[in-house]
Amino acid sequence: MARLFCYLFLIAIVAGCTTDATGPRVAAPTEIAAGYPSAEAIPPGEVRLREISDGLWVHVATQEFNGVVYPSNGLIVRDSNELLLIDTAWGAENTAALLVAIEAEIGLPVRRALSTHFHDDRVAGVDTLRAAGVETFATPLTRRLAEAEGNEVPAHALEGLAEPGNVVKLGPVEVLYPGAGHAPDNVVVYVPEAGVLFGGCAVYEALRTGPGNLSDADIVAWSASIQRVMERYPEAKVVIPGHGVPGGLDLLNHTIAVNEATSGRNGD
Ligand SMILES: [Zn+2]
Repeated sequence: MARLFCYLFLIAIVAGCTTDATGPRVAAPTEIAAGYPSAEAIPPGEVRLREISDGLWVHVATQEFNGVVYPSNGLIVRDSNELLLIDTAWGAENTAALLVAIEAEIGLPVRRALSTHFHDDRVAGVDTLRAAGVETFATPLTRRLAEAEGNEVPAHALEGLAEPGNVVKLGPVEVLYPGAGHAPDNVVVYVPEAGVLFGGCAVYEALRTGPGNLSDADIVAWSASIQRVMERYPEAKVVIPGHGVPGGLDLLNHTIAVNEATSGRNGD
């Protein structure tokens, strides 16, 4: 009996720690931005992990695209004793290095992965993940577009995100389809416990003042899509763009401003 009480006491302590109403502390955007790994600091084929809250990491890798080396961000979210991965590390070699870094620095298995749109910076490496036993997910639209493009295709369909404004839960995160933007299928991921919004390529870093890759973009719909993100997550403390340095909610207004300047220049 004494032992039972002892266990109950321990459970109460653990529950008390994890149900703190304020949730785990997340680093401020300025802290995260300080010393954030730049493209120059990451040789191709290497990955950096940056813990920004308890059980929440950003992964950063680099890849050459049209002769320019870009950094690229993804997310790793602890899901009890497993991990949920948001986006590959842009390529098979980078994604293999990502799994090695996760094993060395976190030591928990990656069970599921979600790709936030159909471009290579989000799906290249999906086959590497599948070979490692990771269940790979994307929306039906992303899977269709990836297949049409000849890109790697996540194995499982994440349903329920067909209409702009739709949200679904995936383990410890909420996934929102805000509507078309950088790509017709881009989704954003919110980690409620930490107040962290992963905007992916639908969100520009503060340093980007001109348009990025617009090959599949819908510049007009993009602003309305970002508005939906703002309305859904007004309490977000940290916003992580697909490429470059994280910031706060100001990155959402910044993205709208860049797009409005771009469409103004195009005369439409
Ligand atoms: Zn991108």
